[in-house]
Amino acid sequence: MLDDKNPKRTSLEQLGEFGLINHLTKDFTLQHKSSIKGIGDDAAVIDFKDKKTVISTDLLIEGVHFDLSYVPLKHLGYKAVMVNLSDIYAMNATATQITVSIAVSNRFPLEALEELYSGIALAAKTYNVDLVGGDTTSSTKGMLISITAIGQANEEDLVYRNGAKPNDLLVVTGDLGAAYMGLQVLEREKEVFKVNPNNNPDLSMYTYIVERQLKPEARKDIVPLLNALEVKPTSMIDVSDGLSSEILHLCEQSNVGCNLYEDKIPLDPTVISSCEEFKVNSTTVALGGGEDYELLFTIDQKEFPKIKGNPNLTVVGHMTDKNEGVHLISRNNTKIPITAQGWNSLSEEQ
Ligand code: ADP
Ligand code: MG
Repeated sequence: MLDDKNPKRTSLEQLGEFGLINHLTKDFTLQHKSSIKGIGDDAAVIDFKDKKTVISTDLLIEGVHFDLSYVPLKHLGYKAVMVNLSDIYAMNATATQITVSIAVSNRFPLEALEELYSGIALAAKTYNVDLVGGDTTSSTKGMLISITAIGQANEEDLVYRNGAKPNDLLVVTGDLGAAYMGLQVLEREKEVFKVNPNNNPDLSMYTYIVERQLKPEARKDIVPLLNALEVKPTSMIDVSDGLSSEILHLCEQSNVGCNLYEDKIPLDPTVISSCEEFKVNSTTVALGGGEDYELLFTIDQKEFPKIKGNPNLTVVGHMTDKNEGVHLISRNNTKIPITAQGWNSLSEEQ
């Protein structure tokens, strides 16, 4: 689907492992004082002084988590970093370092890895994290990427999944469902391309949702925003698997129930229109879609005036006693149990 803009192919064997590592990482510099030793020794050295260290890792596998027939490698590198930073922000922490490990088959030339690393470099620069290490190896088939993100926080600022209390408000950042609908568009275009490779699709009306799928942005801005508003969430999680699954995690770990209001779920207009086009229910998409990389958190009700009217934050529900269960309150005011897939009555549609 994508034109091969870079037809030059340099085989990885020509460089050798150390030549390759050096080539890919030579332009990365260390920005944080906490990065004592980065790439080049047996291990990185980090010094957070009196702060707590936060670590999160993710593994992405070609054909399982990404499809290179429509994901440009630069975007893949960027997104792989976002997925990890999002987990650090979900602890109410600051991300400061990453490590990047890759395994590639001989199908990939040096130029492909340069593309991947250009996305990683852009993400590292934009989000102010230092690349301090990784590993490079070959695979028999396809590409694997594992990124570890490291961050820091004061102990008293850390927010876990288990602190929500009954009557706390449930708040989500941004809007939901767009990445999933972007994926639907890309999958559809892939099928069209198989039939007619000369078809040049006009995706301009889908720009927002396709960008949310290919180039998500982790919510780096929310931790300082909450700090400035003097709001400390009682629990928090990032929305990677879909709103319903994240709500269930908060409820389970906090021992509470939840009422989520369908009419409060924030949806971009292009999500609503693409849901109509694809004949899917937009609530189902928001609840089950995932890959939004927004933050979902709970706050004490008395904090409401501090967040009221903030365009980044939407109150979508409130926590209840555990024995009340976890429910979606639909637009026509019926109570529908929330399951990990979304909500019961629409599960066949998924
Ligand atoms: P080791 O033999 O100890 O695994 P390597 O030769 O694999 O060391 O790595 C040398 C240095 O390069 C280390 O600092 C390692 O963290 C770093 N490194 C290796 N691969 C990557 C990569 N893909 N991205 C960033 N740094 C890497
Ligand atoms: Mg190694």
